[in-house]
Amino acid sequence: MDKEIKLTQRPSKYNEIVRETTIDKTRLSWTQPICEVDWIAQNSKWEPAPEIGPDAERLIEIRMPVRVVDSEIKTCAFCGNPTIFGVFIRADPKKVSYPAKDDLI
Ligand SMILES: [Zn+2]
Repeated sequence: MDKEIKLTQRPSKYNEIVRETTIDKTRLSWTQPICEVDWIAQNSKWEPAPEIGPDAERLIEIRMPVRVVDSEIKTCAFCGNPTIFGVFIRADPKKVSYPAKDDLI
């Protein structure tokens, strides 16, 4: 004799938290896309290069980012330009000019 098994979802505090997070699409993310120009501006060191020109600078050090392999077009959180750089940083969404929303849908 076959018994039909009915699956039900038990209400729990965890489920309530997940539902609230899913519904609120306006939540801002702490994971923000950054373009190559802003990455270099924030993660490099330069020194004057007077032999090239009076205001010229030479790159002496840059921190290499970890990139997302299959990157999508994102909006840089700092300059608002589209970027396919595939790099994200942790940043307070209230302190960037173009904060990304949470991707939880
Ligand atoms: Zn940028």
